[in-house]
Amino acid sequence: MKSLSPNPELRREILTRHEEISPGVFVIGFRRILNFKPGQAIKLGVDPETPPRIYSLCSGTNDDELCVLFNIKPDGFLTPKLANLTVGDTVYASAPYGTFLGTDEPAWWIATGTGIAPFRSMLRSGMGKNKVLIHGVRHLNQFYFSDELPKVLGKNYSRCCSAESSSHVFFGRVTEFLTEQTSLPKDQKYYICGQATMAVETRDLLIKKGIPFGQIVTEIYF
Ligand SMILES: Cc1cc2nc3c(=O)[nH]c(=O)nc-3n(C[C@H](O)[C@H](O)[C@H](O)COP(=O)(O)OP(=O)(O)OC[C@H]3O[C@@H](n4cnc5c(N)ncnc54)[C@H](O)[C@@H]3O)c2cc1C
Repeated sequence: MKSLSPNPELRREILTRHEEISPGVFVIGFRRILNFKPGQAIKLGVDPETPPRIYSLCSGTNDDELCVLFNIKPDGFLTPKLANLTVGDTVYASAPYGTFLGTDEPAWWIATGTGIAPFRSMLRSGMGKNKVLIHGVRHLNQFYFSDELPKVLGKNYSRCCSAESSSHVFFGRVTEFLTEQTSLPKDQKYYICGQATMAVETRDLLIKKGIPFGQIVTEIYF
């Protein structure tokens, strides 16, 4: 039975997954009892009293668990606490919500860092067809889910790394990668997910390259 919470928006959940998938980066999850739309997020906390933080779901709509991907902000309030939990511990989570929703239409997905989360959810929910995914990170070990993404996307999955070089990886930022693209489809949607600076720079670049503002959809992690 779920216990009553001082914040009625939050339900008590028991962690069924707590994995460090890269140094300081975790996927945690709990049993899925609610349906959601790929791209949605949940509010999450370690107690019902303090303000929760928001996390995109990174699991698929048919997965047994609701999972999120996060990196530790060493001076942050919640992420160091989430990192210290283990399977069987309690978290407090809202129902999934949000309007950054994937569709079956062709689109470009542009992410940096943990901003890959909603696109991984869309992909696992069967929306990978006709999608181009560009993932930008600083270090090579930050290409989260890179073992599964190319299986669906093939050559439509591009990785950009700004601080380290490697074969099959573009050396530079996603904005530099996009600058080098000679033709970007103007009739498709461009979904951008990540930190505010990247989202704004990417949006401005796309507009400069002729993409109508109405074709650009953003989810900013702040
Ligand atoms: C729609 C949405 C979806 C998101 N999805 C994800 C996701 O999937 N994965 C993910 O990792 N994150 C995601 N985030 C970000 C997430 O909600 C948290 O902001 C993040 O995890 C940091 O939480 P925290 O409590 O550890 O840090 P916080 O305590 O919120 O601090 C964050 C940073 O701000 C600094 N800071 C705090 N207070 C101040 C202050 N007063 N002045 C100056 N600096 C300050 C801290 O030092 C720290 O570096 C999302 C955000 C949004 C809005």
